[in-house]
Amino acid sequence: MKHFACGDIIPGCDATFTAADDDGILVQTRAHAVDAHGMPAPGTDSDALVLPAIRTA
Ligand SMILES: [Zn+2]
Repeated sequence: MKHFACGDIIPGCDATFTAADDDGILVQTRAHAVDAHGMPAPGTDSDALVLPAIRTA
């Protein structure tokens, strides 16, 4: 499983995401980036930040 903690790149955010693969994480983090962090939809600008911080659990 893949795991991502938003707090690793956005200090103070305690949202975490788990999925079977990177794409499953990105689907969730794109929506989270838009809803929680005010990033322009569809939030794909966050991919470059999220991908290096995804951990394999
Ligand atoms: Zn967050």
